[in-house]
Amino acid sequence: MAPGTVQLNIFAWNQKLTKYVKDGQPEKAIQLFQQMQQEGVTPNKFTFVPLINACAGLGALEGGRRVHEQLIQSGCESDVFVGSSLVDMYAKCGSIKDAWSVFNKMPLRNVVTWNAMVLGHVKCGQGQKALELFQQMQQEGVRPNSVTFVGVLNACASMVAYEEGRSVHEQIIQSGCESDVFVGSRLVDMYTKCGSLEDAQRVFNIMPSRDVVTWSAMILGHVKCGQGQNALKLFRQLQQEGVQPNSVTFVAVLNACASVVALEEGRSVHEQIIQSGCESDVFVGSSLVDMYAKCGSLEDAWRVFHKMPSRDVATWNAILGGCAMHGHGREALKHFEQMCEEGVQPDDITFVCLLSACSHAGLVDEGMCCYAAMVTDYMISAKLEHYTCMVDLLGRAGHLQEAENMVMAIPCKPKVAAWMALLSTCRIHGNVEMAECVAKQILELEPDNAAGYVLLSNIYAAAGNRHLCENVERQRMEKGVKKQQGCTWIEVNNEVHTFVVGDQDHPQMNEIHGELQRLSGLMHDAGYVPCTKFILHDVEEEEKVSHVHHHSEKLAIALGLINTAPGTPLRIRKNLRVCEDCHTSIKFISKIVGRAIMVRDANRFHHFEDGICSCMDYW
Ligand SMILES: [Zn+2]
Ligand SMILES: [Zn+2]
Repeated sequence: MAPGTVQLNIFAWNQKLTKYVKDGQPEKAIQLFQQMQQEGVTPNKFTFVPLINACAGLGALEGGRRVHEQLIQSGCESDVFVGSSLVDMYAKCGSIKDAWSVFNKMPLRNVVTWNAMVLGHVKCGQGQKALELFQQMQQEGVRPNSVTFVGVLNACASMVAYEEGRSVHEQIIQSGCESDVFVGSRLVDMYTKCGSLEDAQRVFNIMPSRDVVTWSAMILGHVKCGQGQNALKLFRQLQQEGVQPNSVTFVAVLNACASVVALEEGRSVHEQIIQSGCESDVFVGSSLVDMYAKCGSLEDAWRVFHKMPSRDVATWNAILGGCAMHGHGREALKHFEQMCEEGVQPDDITFVCLLSACSHAGLVDEGMCCYAAMVTDYMISAKLEHYTCMVDLLGRAGHLQEAENMVMAIPCKPKVAAWMALLSTCRIHGNVEMAECVAKQILELEPDNAAGYVLLSNIYAAAGNRHLCENVERQRMEKGVKKQQGCTWIEVNNEVHTFVVGDQDHPQMNEIHGELQRLSGLMHDAGYVPCTKFILHDVEEEEKVSHVHHHSEKLAIALGLINTAPGTPLRIRKNLRVCEDCHTSIKFISKIVGRAIMVRDANRFHHFEDGICSCMDYW
């Protein structure tokens, strides 16, 4: 064969190989390479690069290693393109060690080489190392490009490294990459994950073009920062701008609906999901189940659940979590059995759902069995959430000593959440002595834990010790610890309204107060006595006696009553636990107005109907 023919031949082979990789058929590229070797064609660097990329795409570490060996023999190893592909392949296949060994041996490295290293470390969860590489590459005079920035921003987001993220942002502005839609989306994502919605909004507003990824990052960011209502507004804006939502967007907006109990909005999103064909996506389906359960409609949650073509552990967790929140303990246990029969392996979240289901329903023995099964049968080691559920379970049932022993024995640290659960149960059982010890433990671990102060002062107030109660309050104020503000959401006629204590901002405020006045009269006639000994109840900024009438949940209920037809059930969401007085009042109101009122508080659902609550006053 003439040398010219060989040249031509290898060129044709390589072209074919590259085309397979570009078309997303890496297996075919590898087959072609084998054929090429059988026919005795000597590969060159233009053969190796697409081939290594094919292995990277398949995550085929062993195949990649074999190609690596062959290219050493062919003497291509020192080529910068070949080397960069190797680094990328090893990093993508999860072998950072091999990536480093190639990287260190390379005589010359370009931005592609460095990017492969940076992205590889991000992917392996080594964000800090990725940032170091980013510094190092610049010291060596290599200018980062948009791919580098995307990688580094992901690193900052994963580590919640706000300051680093800001300084990367500055470099992005200097490099002129800010208008790149991928970089912009990552900036939005990084800022929301670092909890700075203002920065995210600023980037978002000046982006010349935004894609569905950008919008999804914004929506999810708002949900995560507790701004469900604004997340819903963003979703409407996205639709007005004609952007087609994808499954990630739908999951984010369903989370938003769940967070503010926007059932009607959730239903309309569900319709759009059906139209878009995303309904069979297991991730979307599980979020629908979760949304319906959290919006108070277990029937709808079950309907979606049964229609799903496939269900994974997240789907089951959503429905079990729903049962737990609604206080259906036995049902949760029954469905857990079914889950196991269907061959779905439970995870640690499954057991959090089960244990809290047992706790909310007062099923102590069953809860103990679940806990034992988790540790011995399923080999899942208990995390703080599980211990906290157990403390709650034991404490509520009156086994305070066992609950305390449990907290003492918890190996994980810090265990403030478990101490808090114990303190709450001390409140339920009026155990002042234990409460004092527990509160001391909490405030030692977290001196600015507002809930610790508030619970303790409540306990003193409940025991009638005004002096000690005021003492605790004074200590809290001296330390400058602020209470968490109570906030309630209600969806009325497809619009979500937000209320905080003593709110005066709502346009219908006069009517709301009128309605509360009217109800107050009827409640007194029906035998309601204001629960003044709990004035300092719970974790909120509600100190004055007059405020008891103005708790955010009462304002929300009044709004719902005056704006909906008689008989319409009301659904509200409160960010903190509902207080004793509100709980009693809502029982009276449900009977007086003849309506079902569902309140989802920080712990669970309360279904008020005809003067009774589904929690049987046990929360
Ligand atoms: Zn209240
Ligand atoms: Zn209740």
